Amino acid sequence: MTSESNRLPVVAIVGRPNVGKSALFNRIAGKRIAVVHSQSGVTRDRLMIEVVRDDRAFLLVDTGGISHIDGSESTDLIESSIHRQVEAALDDADCVIFMTDLRAGVIPLDQEVARFLHSKNLPVIVAANKADTEKDELLAPEFDELGFPVVPVSALHARNIDDLMAGVKPHIPATAQLTLDERLRIAIVGRPNVGKSSFINAMLKDDRLIVSDVAGTTHDSIDIPFSLGEGESARHYLMIDTPGIRRANKISTAVDKFGVIRAQNSIDSADVCVLMMDAVQGPTAYDKKIADLITRSEKGCVMIVNKWDLSEDIKKKEYDKALRRAVPFMRHCPVVFVSAVTGDHVRDSIEMIEHVAAQVTARLPTGILNRAIEDAEKRVAPPAVKGKRLHIYYAVQTDVKPLKVTLFVNNPKLIVPNYRDYLINSLRQKFGLEGAPIILTLRNRPRKKSR
Ligand code: GDP
Ligand code: GDP
Repeated sequence: MTSESNRLPVVAIVGRPNVGKSALFNRIAGKRIAVVHSQSGVTRDRLMIEVVRDDRAFLLVDTGGISHIDGSESTDLIESSIHRQVEAALDDADCVIFMTDLRAGVIPLDQEVARFLHSKNLPVIVAANKADTEKDELLAPEFDELGFPVVPVSALHARNIDDLMAGVKPHIPATAQLTLDERLRIAIVGRPNVGKSSFINAMLKDDRLIVSDVAGTTHDSIDIPFSLGEGESARHYLMIDTPGIRRANKISTAVDKFGVIRAQNSIDSADVCVLMMDAVQGPTAYDKKIADLITRSEKGCVMIVNKWDLSEDIKKKEYDKALRRAVPFMRHCPVVFVSAVTGDHVRDSIEMIEHVAAQVTARLPTGILNRAIEDAEKRVAPPAVKGKRLHIYYAVQTDVKPLKVTLFVNNPKLIVPNYRDYLINSLRQKFGLEGAPIILTLRNRPRKKSR
């Protein structure tokens, strides 16, 4: 259960558009993960990311991703959109980075945001952004009028980010156990000869991937512990039941011709599955079977199409389409086309595995989660069932791996499958969550609880 005690502290970045919120988000997050969702072809900016810095783990939330407002709107409208934009994030925030544009100076909109933040009684630090040179920093005192400590920074040129974070640190409780320490378990599954062992070898050659001493050898399989990233923000993984390195597979009898039982066991003990397929053969019945096992086991998944060097004139778009048709229930899972032999796109696939691993363990702050559900409900009302309509009172995330959300409602029987899918898709759109299953549970709550 996700209890209050292992909830990550939240640092929210707020401010009007174009001050550099997403630039700062990427800077603090330490890397750019622009995920191209193969289905929509859209590059999606991350809304939130787990960050470990200076012995502190926190969730960094970019409120810019919650609602973009148009700077040309009238002040009143802007004010209400700004409120909407930041309110949900502030419900969860332990500390706020209020971003402004040093070069534009203090504008009325900044003053409005400042008034709003003062009313919330939260620790706030003003990041006066676009201080690209030392000379620019001389403009910073102008922002003192906002009534919060001011740090001139340049998100783009990485200036004074440490000073800013030093201001944030006292407001972030030290977490006893950093969640990123947890080793996530990865299983690489697929038909014999699709190139699983070749892919693992190609992965192990990547200099980003740091392999710890190999332990856990059993008579017929091997687990490989490895890490990605450096220092305190490194993530640790275990590649489980690694094929090919083990002895000839004696389980593959006529009954279990393609090792389905073995695959099921690997999938069961994994957090993220890599479903490997063959470029030339295309998605087969066996691939569908394995995809189905992954879905039923509620595991995160990345689909990898290997041997792309042999594909000649197959187009990625066409393959992708055929694959989506073959396994429509894997719609939310990213696809990467690689060649284990040439090493092409192996790194991309490692990044994608890492990304899905992060989604599988995502913790959605309660305020933002509830706002997302409310917004979805406002866009499309639940359909009436025998004259009665579903009312959702409150949403709470109850688990990770897989991500479980419980909705407290007037009557759980009033949800229709389409509406359940719609709510799940809305959460995906809001939070990203590529490759991660979302399990929605409905529970009875007869009277409305105040939010
Ligand atoms: P957001 O709307 O607040 O998320 O702002 P963005 O992060 O999208 O940035 C808006 C614009 O400001 C972009 O053109 C950025 O390249 C630019 N920008 C962001 N940070 C800096 C900075 O530190 N210095 C300068 N000169 N430009 C910046
Ligand atoms: P596994 O049974 O899934 O572990 O598959 P292997 O890694 O043993 O590979 C099966 C065969 O496919 C071997 O002959 C590999 O050399 C070949 N193979 C693996 N990956 C690729 C690739 O990306 N391109 C090509 N052309 N051949 C590959």
